[in-house]
Parts: sequence; C-alpha cells; structure tokens
Amino acid sequence: MIAKNQFKTIIDLVNQFPTEQSCHHYLVGQRWGGGYMECPYDDCQGDTPYIFKDGIRYKCKCCHRIYTAKTGTIFEASKLPMIKWFVAIYLVMHKKGISSIQLGKDVGVQQKTAWFMLHRIRKVLGNSEDEILEGTVQLDETFVGGKNKNRHWDKKVKGSQGRSFKDKTPVMGMMQQNVYEFIERPNKVEPDKIVKERLIVKPSVIKCQVVVNTKGEILQPIVRANVLVGSTVVSDEWWGYQGLKSTYEHQIVDHLHGQYVNQLGYTSNAVEGGWSQFKRSIFGIYHKVSKNHLDKYVDEFVFKHNNRTFDVEGQINVILKQSECRLRLKELKAIANANRQKSC
Ligand SMILES: [Zn+2]
Repeated sequence: MIAKNQFKTIIDLVNQFPTEQSCHHYLVGQRWGGGYMECPYDDCQGDTPYIFKDGIRYKCKCCHRIYTAKTGTIFEASKLPMIKWFVAIYLVMHKKGISSIQLGKDVGVQQKTAWFMLHRIRKVLGNSEDEILEGTVQLDETFVGGKNKNRHWDKKVKGSQGRSFKDKTPVMGMMQQNVYEFIERPNKVEPDKIVKERLIVKPSVIKCQVVVNTKGEILQPIVRANVLVGSTVVSDEWWGYQGLKSTYEHQIVDHLHGQYVNQLGYTSNAVEGGWSQFKRSIFGIYHKVSKNHLDKYVDEFVFKHNNRTFDVEGQINVILKQSECRLRLKELKAIANANRQKSC
C-alpha cells in the first residue's frame, strides 16, 4: 500500500515505481479503488478475475478474456514502460506547459511518440466529470490562433470586429466564482481579540469550450447547458449574451466604457485573468496551436485550474482514475491529416 504524499518530486516518483508491476498495481488501485475489479470489456459484468503469476495480467472469471490495468485506458495500446507515462503525466501537470520536443527528451522517446503521449494525456484531462456551475458565474470569450505569426494574440476589441476575426478560433469560458464563508475566531497573538476571516469553502471552477463563433445562438445554449437556472451570470456588454435575463440574473460590466466593476460590485476579471494565463501558456510553450487540437489544449488548461488545490500526486491520481478512455492512433492521424489539408 502506498502512503499519501509518497511522490512529491520526480525522483520520488521514479523511486516509488521501480518495476512495471509496481506501476500496474498502482494503476489498479486508482482504477478500481481496492474494490471489485470489474471486467473492462463493455459486454461483460464480471467483477472477479484470476491473477497471472506476473501480477500484471488478469483473466475474467465470467468471460475468460485476459486484461491488464491498462485495458480500456489511454495506455492500452502503448508498448512504453508505464514509468515513462507516469513521468510524462508528472511533467504535464508540473510545468506550465510542455512541448512534445521537450517531453521526448525528458522521458527518452522520439518527438513523434511524445506528441501522441501528450494527446492521449490531454484526452484524459478532458474526461473529467461534468459539473453544473452555480452561484455567480463569469462569462467571457477569447480568440486563439491566426495565420500571421506576429498577431497570434491580437487583443480582443470589445464590441467590435475583434470578435469576428476569420482566421482565429473563439473559445468560450465560464467561471463559477469562489464561494466564501466568513468566520470569527480569536486572534492568534492576542486571544482576547476576535478577528473575522474569509474562507474559501468552494474554489472556483472553470469550463471552456471551443466555439464556431460568438453569436448568441451559439453562446447562449452553452450557458444554459452548463449553468444552473436562477444563478447570476456576469458578462461584458457583448450582444451575444443579450437574452440571458429570462433564465438568469444577468449582470453586465460595461468594458466598452471603461467599466471593470459594475455598480453592484460584479466583475468578470477572474475569468479574464484566467484567459491571460491560458494565452501565456500557449504562446510561451506551444507557439502554434492547430485549430483541430485546440480543444485538447483547452482541456489541459481547465483540468489544471479545476485541480489546482491538489498536490502533484493528487493530480496524477485524478488522471489515473479517469484514464478510462481511448484515443486511437488512427483518430489522431485523421485529425492531423485534416489539419494539413486545411492549411494547404
Ligand atoms: Zn469479463
């Protein structure tokens, strides 16, 4: 049994998993949580297997098929030692962003292999449980890409053409604000004095989506599908948000006229701050983001934000728990080809 906080550093991580078997056992623990090992094949209800001598392979007592901890996960088709995957996940989570060239050097695989690893890891990052946002939710969009290298990150011009650049891809974001609780407690130095303290009882949660454009017919159904009816939504004056009043308490911050906090104290600064972080990570590390892969980079950003209160071990555990999804080489190649044809 591995105790909590056993791998804070990359050295801890490598020492913790000296063999392929130790990696598999850890993945079993995260995937099945020490309970019944449900058969990973969709058409089988079996939950107890025979264990092979190697400690890695299992045989379902119900359908008699052989499987491992990797079956049905992003690791299934990979021949790489699992420790390389663990290190890759560690690096993806630990760094602001990592390129496939750098990852290839760090884990000792070719750049092409590292590229596939990164895409598989990002697929898992987007596999988080869907959560409905509530309370106060800030709304905003940003634009990514563009053919001219020098204007990858054109500043968005509110309420103007800035929202319809043809060579850019819009991304819409919704951020549920921190939920606070105010408590009173004795002062640590002078216990006679009572101090008021603001505690975050629910850290902010962000959801982002690549969209075809920022018209109301696109943005509003997304808001309605992701934000609980009756919540407060905060946006700027963009007309694409007009009409939300029928479902939500809609607060508008008039950026066009230099307003950043409205009369009632509402702001969309947090989501905009999140955007600048998102842009920095893409501009600084990935340089050029293909339109067809943008959603995966968005998923990485969202996962990191929503799991920021965990240490790196906690984040790795979340990733291993939700690693049950496949991204086949064929699918990735089709995406890459489609992208190549478009850019010709
Ligand atoms: Zn089975």
